[in-house]
Amino acid sequence: MTVKEVREKIQKRLQKAGIEDFEYEVWMLLEWKLGIGRAEYFMDPDREIPDKAWMSLNEVLRERERRVPLQYLMGSCEFMGYTFEVDERVLIPRQDTECLVELAVEKIRQTLREQASCQVLDLCTGSGCIGISVKLLCPEAEVTLSDVSEGALDVAKKNAWNLGASVRTIESDLFENIQGSYDYILSNPPYIPSRVIEGLMPEVREFEPRIALDGTEDGLYFYRAIAEDAVGYLRPGGWLIFEIGQEQGEDLLSILREQGFENTEIKKDLAGLDRIAVGRWPENVEL
Ligand code: GLN
Repeated sequence: MTVKEVREKIQKRLQKAGIEDFEYEVWMLLEWKLGIGRAEYFMDPDREIPDKAWMSLNEVLRERERRVPLQYLMGSCEFMGYTFEVDERVLIPRQDTECLVELAVEKIRQTLREQASCQVLDLCTGSGCIGISVKLLCPEAEVTLSDVSEGALDVAKKNAWNLGASVRTIESDLFENIQGSYDYILSNPPYIPSRVIEGLMPEVREFEPRIALDGTEDGLYFYRAIAEDAVGYLRPGGWLIFEIGQEQGEDLLSILREQGFENTEIKKDLAGLDRIAVGRWPENVEL
């Protein structure tokens, strides 16, 4: 078969399987499995490819037709310009989450200008994408990653090692095994209301860890639990920063205010949707 025939075949099959972004994925697959980028492709589309290469491509294509996410098949994913390993034990890092990292990095840098050290906790770390990116961008910060899932924490540790980020990891159900106090608590907890999950695309619904998605009945369980307990783990003047779903802004403002957080704010992502909730633990708490 020629590269052109292969390309057409893949495109047709992805499209038939209902994969929305089939055009992009065709190029990803050609590059990954055949080592042929777009430019090379157009230079010689009639080049024959070895049967063996087609067989190996065909194998992943079958998995993709079952709607296994491409990132799990490739075993990696780009986030903040870094390559993170991913598998079915962790949520695939989303571009939306980069907004949280960017905001956190800006604030942490400011803090590091004002004080010698800065303690950061990434709660529900999954692949470690948030905490590891923060550590790489703010090397002086001391970063702790924690997750309830041992499997997720293994992936996070591997990523920290691969990317040369020196971080601490703690297996913990929310704050259960956490000690000390932090200047920043960052979290992208599970926040999808349980009943919504069934309506999501098969890649998410069938392959991403339910435990990383399900925010229980109203989707807000983890925000309430974290906001309530964070108080015991934040320094006076410390910040709590959450990623949120686009419809959760108002709820988050009330949750944070109810717990006594100040400077509460909802920030939008690049698509203009509510994406981040921020709150500051008062500098002087009146008891
Ligand atoms: N912190 C990880 C991420 O942002 C995992 C989040 C999760 O599992 N809910 O991708």
